[in-house]
Amino acid sequence: MTAPLPPGSTIGIIGSGQLGRMAALAAARLGYRVHVFSPESDSPTEQVAAAATVADYTDLAALEAFARSVDVVTFEFENIPADSVRVLTDLIPVRPSWRVLDVAQDRISEKRFFTEIGIATAPWAEIASAADLTREVARIGRPAVLKTTRLGYDGKGQIKIAADTDLDRAWAAMGGAVSVLEGFIDFAGEISVIVARGLDRRIAAFEPAWNVHTNHILDTTTVPAPIGPDLSRAAVAVACKAAEALELVGLLAVEMFVTRDGRILANEMAPRPHNSGHWTIDACVTDQFEQFIRAVCGLPLGDPDRHSDAVMTNLIGDDVNDWLAILSDPDAKLHLYGKAEARSGRKMGHVTRIRPRTGSR
Ligand code: AMP
Repeated sequence: MTAPLPPGSTIGIIGSGQLGRMAALAAARLGYRVHVFSPESDSPTEQVAAAATVADYTDLAALEAFARSVDVVTFEFENIPADSVRVLTDLIPVRPSWRVLDVAQDRISEKRFFTEIGIATAPWAEIASAADLTREVARIGRPAVLKTTRLGYDGKGQIKIAADTDLDRAWAAMGGAVSVLEGFIDFAGEISVIVARGLDRRIAAFEPAWNVHTNHILDTTTVPAPIGPDLSRAAVAVACKAAEALELVGLLAVEMFVTRDGRILANEMAPRPHNSGHWTIDACVTDQFEQFIRAVCGLPLGDPDRHSDAVMTNLIGDDVNDWLAILSDPDAKLHLYGKAEARSGRKMGHVTRIRPRTGSR
């Protein structure tokens, strides 16, 4: 199918968190229905979707029935098993494609991909044994970071290798799983670029956002990023290059470090809407969720231009209790995700504060 999917069609979304919720709201604005598939019931996405299948990601029969009831499938969560994606791909257009998910699911294949297409990263090595770790720490140097290759996010499954870290113990803590060792970057800051690529191969990038993490979880995103036009262009070029090399149809978020000597190093990527793009809802002509829906449905991409300066702050755990005070601030736009329990570390919502745009276009 290469023609645009007409409004009234049903978009299948795999995964049911806040990203799916905000994508479903954008889909509804354009006249589409969303059918969500995930193991969770009463999820943030289900609450706003037209239909839901509650089943495990490995339930092939449920996936097949789901695929038969929708017009296109996409993901708000990329860690689903290869066999499950194959079932879907045989029945229905899946955007982005399995190849994109496969590269982005695994930190080593991601790093290898960046390296192969000439995108700079921190020095890295694949680690499959204690001997590998000893050898590669000697090569890369300390400090370094040892990360699980799969299912790691928000700093989960990461161990810092400091000057005094015992390497045998660090390896034991990874439970024998193949891991990636990265040189620790003493960065000036962290940025991300979100790029959309349509079925017509057109590409549209949001400008770089400046991200501050606390305890490995995104705390604030600020635009414009204080990095100047040259670095900004270079960062956008990195994200566009990755999207083109993947032949992406959909959205790609690339997280990068800005080094103190002014280089850009790619850290990781996600082929879906991203937390560091939530500011676009309130500050851009077309936001990341609408852009995602447009790409997945084969529609022309919208204008990603930013009309306002913005600071997005995540509401983590109990932060959400401030909802009334936030609503009293005339510059604040509150977004809550409908999660019942404010567990510590859980993303409950975000608030974006906007100001008239500064700086040239
Ligand atoms: P990640 O799960 O790779 O996104 O890592 C979460 C956060 O840990 C990043 O946003 C950084 O703040 C920090 N981090 C990860 N890898 C490195 C590295 N190689 N050097 C310095 N900080 C890192």
